[in-house]
Amino acid sequence: MNKTVLITGASRGIGADTARLFAEQGWNVAINYNHSEHRALALEAELKAQGASAMVVQADIAEAQQVQSMVHQVQSHFGTIDALVNNAGIAQQRLFTEITEEDWNRMFDVNVKGMYHCTQAVVRDMINNHAGKIINLSSIWGITGGSCEVHYSAAKAAVVGFTKALAKELGLSNIQVNCVAPGVIDTEMNAALTADAMEQLKEETPLGVIGKCSDVANLIYFLASDKADFITGQVISPNGGLVI
Ligand code: NDP
Repeated sequence: MNKTVLITGASRGIGADTARLFAEQGWNVAINYNHSEHRALALEAELKAQGASAMVVQADIAEAQQVQSMVHQVQSHFGTIDALVNNAGIAQQRLFTEITEEDWNRMFDVNVKGMYHCTQAVVRDMINNHAGKIINLSSIWGITGGSCEVHYSAAKAAVVGFTKALAKELGLSNIQVNCVAPGVIDTEMNAALTADAMEQLKEETPLGVIGKCSDVANLIYFLASDKADFITGQVISPNGGLVI
């Protein structure tokens, strides 16, 4: 029987390429989106046209009830969820002195509380099945800190702590929890950065390139596969060698 993955924020960027890769590998894919309905539906159609099993589920992951309803829809359609990719996230470039409480709260509501809601909603099933893979998207800024991104860096650091603690708690349930902390990847998330800033980041990257979504998707897929059964509680950073 095909395995099922739920990928949050799969309407575009890293999540969309991750959905493509899981589908190629024969998984049932649940594509979560919040606002980008057309893009999520287009991705679902693309995957189905290739013979894959895919479904679209809308939810703002910051809202517990929406997440519960999303997970219920996925379980009703595909059965058990074998892997959860907590990918959905938001970023914002802003001087620390200009970060409002509203900015701060939304950053944590999506990037941290959203991951908590989604994990809570799937993990009991995984415990009952004595199997499951959870992959959380942090960022290189969650490890090194990013200037003008204090709230983003703090939220992504929380993802690291969450991953390590949960991995310890769920190890005996045979559930692997890992964290992917990418460097700079070419997605709309970086659209606010100027061409000069992107060029500088490229120059600072030892491999001399900005990462592609597929670079991250390949790692996420590996961590969800049975090849990664002995890997848990780890933070792995596809970043072209960029360490600041
Ligand atoms: P994008 O901005 O390209 O896409 C973000 C995705 O998250 C969209 O599908 C969006 O859905 C979804 N999303 C945002 N808020 C919510 C929400 N409240 N509920 C549900 N879905 C939501 O981001 P990337 O692909 O670049 O990033 C993916 C992950 O990787 C993020 O966690 C990000 O922090 C992390 N990352 C990215 C890096 C980069 O350089 N790009 C570097 C390091 C980490 P919709 O459009 O439907 O609202």
